[in-house]
Amino acid sequence: MKGAQIIKTNEPLVINEVEKPKPEGNQVLVRVATTGVCHSDLHLWEGGYAGPKGVFMKVEDRGVKFPLIPGHEISGTIEEVGNGVRNFNVGDKVLVYPWLGEGKCPACLSGEQNLCDNPRTLGIYQNGGYAQYVLIPDSKFLIRLDHLEFDSASSLACSGLTAYNAVKKAKSIPGLEDRHNIVIVGAGGLGLMAVQVAKAIFKSKITIIDVNDQKLAEARKLGADNIINTKEKQDVVKEVKDLTNGFGTDVVIDFVNNNVTSVNSFNMLRKRGKLIMVGLFGGSMELNLPMIPLRGYTLTGAYTGTFQDLTELVKLASDGKVRTVLDRTFALDQVNEALHDLKNGKIIGRAIINPNQ
Ligand SMILES: [Zn+2]
Ligand SMILES: [Zn+2]
Repeated sequence: MKGAQIIKTNEPLVINEVEKPKPEGNQVLVRVATTGVCHSDLHLWEGGYAGPKGVFMKVEDRGVKFPLIPGHEISGTIEEVGNGVRNFNVGDKVLVYPWLGEGKCPACLSGEQNLCDNPRTLGIYQNGGYAQYVLIPDSKFLIRLDHLEFDSASSLACSGLTAYNAVKKAKSIPGLEDRHNIVIVGAGGLGLMAVQVAKAIFKSKITIIDVNDQKLAEARKLGADNIINTKEKQDVVKEVKDLTNGFGTDVVIDFVNNNVTSVNSFNMLRKRGKLIMVGLFGGSMELNLPMIPLRGYTLTGAYTGTFQDLTELVKLASDGKVRTVLDRTFALDQVNEALHDLKNGKIIGRAIINPNQ
């Protein structure tokens, strides 16, 4: 089969002929229909993330080994199953839950494989979906796609899942839902998904912040109650306070989470407020420490989500309550072009690869 491999970081991916895996036991071989091209693929390709004060956090120091076939937003058709598989058949259409753990650590045992101490994520720690076929270690990581198209379903497994998990963490105390304010920072793919999820599962008032009028207009269409363009309204903390009778917001979900947005996000919280950090743009933040106890803040992060989250999200998407925004479709041998376009900001929504076309 053909697979696109990262051989060395920052060098073009190479399309190689690699051995087609043979599923055994509970394993499943999926013929890939669609793989989403994600920012995490860029970080992997570039070899890491920007940390504080110019420190570069290398993925190889966190257990990533090259050569590797990336791609963790995978949907397709079951090609072959191991002899232990009972719940799926050849020909079934599936979405893959890629955030696998080793199954033994406290995170795995509490259902949060996505935060496993020894992660085994497909497309990061083992071969993923930038290939014609991908081997899934167990059929329990598959979700049936009854009505959803492959192309729109794929990115639910990562960007959609991250937005969904972050929004779930923003839940109001029962009885106070209609007085609850959520601010979403960033109206990119995740921010727009978060607006839809929040509107579908909460009654909270949603304010979204970005620098791009086009994206903000889209957020408005999807149900955002307030939009703030920080190019026009630079004191974004004041804007949010004005919208909340001077108190600040109950929750901020920061999909950018860089040096600038994190400070603003912190400063716009109401007492008892919660800051949910999601973006991986890098950098650091100086904290006004007494504020955290005095105002009872909670600072937390959200990274992808659980298998249960993905199941719930697929249901929401199947019911038409959330939709993903797609950009261009690429063939497998255009994978470097896809990554460059994403890196250069030329992709709005999701770029996808169809490896078997
Ligand atoms: Zn684990
Ligand atoms: Zn991703």
